[in-house]
Amino acid sequence: NNMGCQCRSNDELQQLVDEAKKYTSNGTVADYIPALEKANPGDLSVAIYYPDGKGYCAGDVSGKMTLQSISKVLTLALVLMEKGEDYVFSYVGKEPTGDPFNSIAKLETNKPSKPLNPMINAGALTVTHMIEGASVTERFERILHFIRELTQNPNIGFNEDVARSEYNTADLNRSLSYFLKQHHVINEDVEELIELYSKQCAIEMDSQDLARIGCVLAMNGKDLLTGRQIIPGDIARICKTFMVTCGMYNASGEFAINVGIPAKSGVSGGIMGAVPGKCGIGIYGAALDEKGNSVAGIKILEMMAKKYSLSMFNL
Ligand code: GLU
Repeated sequence: NNMGCQCRSNDELQQLVDEAKKYTSNGTVADYIPALEKANPGDLSVAIYYPDGKGYCAGDVSGKMTLQSISKVLTLALVLMEKGEDYVFSYVGKEPTGDPFNSIAKLETNKPSKPLNPMINAGALTVTHMIEGASVTERFERILHFIRELTQNPNIGFNEDVARSEYNTADLNRSLSYFLKQHHVINEDVEELIELYSKQCAIEMDSQDLARIGCVLAMNGKDLLTGRQIIPGDIARICKTFMVTCGMYNASGEFAINVGIPAKSGVSGGIMGAVPGKCGIGIYGAALDEKGNSVAGIKILEMMAKKYSLSMFNL
């Protein structure tokens, strides 16, 4: 029985990376944003971070990823802190969809017109729209500031190449935004929203930074090292719940059964895990499976969940 067992060495994590690495050849890197195609599909890194401030990592640990959809959880936390639950959820719902992340279909059939949840693009664009500030620059700085606090890393920035590449090719996200604007869900200049959203998706970090954010969410929004409550507990709970119901695209149900931890993935191949009350996990493996999740990342999480009894549904 592995109850309470923890990973406390880089070597132990390295064994999991070695085991999972062979699966990287089963996937392909995202290519719908041209700059993402440059990623190396063989790279794989994993980091774990505990509330006592100890962290372990293995694999290609210097590799950086852009957050992509993982950023949706963080902007959601920020707008919930600024605007409150009632306001935010009057514009975006709480239900999972069986549709692809960038689907426009349910926007028309769901009445009143409102995106089903903040983890699909329509919902995430609605959330980003709520970030306050006088200009795109100021609004983006506020997102960055929040993420630097969560990671305790003042050097977090964004990848300009990826941001520009997404901005130049984001016609589907423009379509979603114009639809939302027509239905009065948003009311700003669509080009500004797409610029802000493209930058938010291009915020860049390594798996250790990601594990640190996961740990803050795991500990109900508190950074135990500094004693600071960065996110109110109720909001951290909402974020983790969305991660369980819609965090892994259309594989969220299967992932909940096989792994059982709140997690959010992005098309860059990143996965952020928040094991309630225990630790944060950050993974980067650019090769994706057909659902858009890091193929080796999922394998590592399955192995970790089993080895360390991480499923929240085990107790
Ligand atoms: N930049 C991406 C988009 O909106 C994020 C998608 C993702 O990671 O799922 O298309």
